Amino acid sequence: MVKPVLVYRGQELANYGFGDPHPFGLDRHGVFHDELEAAGLDGGIEYASPRRASVDDLLLFHTADYIDKVSRMSAEGRGFLDEGDTPAVAGIFDAASDVVGTTLASVDAIMAKETRRAFVPIAGLHHAGRDHAAGFCVFNDLGVAAEYLRKKYGLQRIAYVDIDAHHGDGMFYGFEDDPDLVFADIHEDGRYLYPGTGAADETGSGRARGTKLNIPMPPGADDEKFRLAWARVENYIDNAAPEFILFQAGADSLEGDPITHLCYTEQAHAEAASALCRLADKHCDGRIIGTGGGGYNRHNLARAWTRVVQSFVAAV
Ligand SMILES: [Zn+2]
Repeated sequence: MVKPVLVYRGQELANYGFGDPHPFGLDRHGVFHDELEAAGLDGGIEYASPRRASVDDLLLFHTADYIDKVSRMSAEGRGFLDEGDTPAVAGIFDAASDVVGTTLASVDAIMAKETRRAFVPIAGLHHAGRDHAAGFCVFNDLGVAAEYLRKKYGLQRIAYVDIDAHHGDGMFYGFEDDPDLVFADIHEDGRYLYPGTGAADETGSGRARGTKLNIPMPPGADDEKFRLAWARVENYIDNAAPEFILFQAGADSLEGDPITHLCYTEQAHAEAASALCRLADKHCDGRIIGTGGGGYNRHNLARAWTRVVQSFVAAV
């Protein structure tokens, strides 16, 4: 029997954000879940509840000094964790730990064969580095998840695929010299958008040199341009033959996002999700986690993430 796609839902996830007027507000979780419910996927999905990561979980990716800094600043509840993008709001340590724990819960559910595919909105916090916050991201749930898959389950080759408008710098530099972290990222050219990294010639360092795929897109790139880039990602992942796929489905690459300049439609997200499910079936025993990532136009994020879940359901 086909098992439903797990979709995570709960106030703990909704609590990760920075309040009005920050683009990463606290309403993103609710907006998505309203749209998902309206899509009527009953039977195809099952809801699951958030879980909190332990400090030991966080230490799989982050440094102890950085975890201490977040804990301290979260208790004080003022200032910024970085240069001014990521406010140290009161309680952010717990909220960020809940995002990480929920992504790890989805890993456990998949590895226990409760499902083959899961989606975690609000997660996919790809700018957080091993020792710093950046770009609205406090703890890097997917970075922790990659290390967790290795430590707890003995998997080695983990694919990370990112179609958020911004380069996934926390993941790229966090695993820059690691050839077994299979990295493919399509993003707006860093000359025009934060964080400014992810040029095509950034292919990894040390023994990973030449193994990672960064595809910068010009401002205004549409679905047609996305498909050309995506064909390269698909080919790359197919050749890399990973054991698990982590998908960062940032919706800020859709036309009308207030802080980026790409012009895809949600069809890009739907097609990418379907293709990744085919690759997961071929190489990974079907195992894939989708995360929401960025997306600051509420209408766009609701539709794009819902299409990702629909594609997961259709592929099961
Ligand atoms: Zn983004």
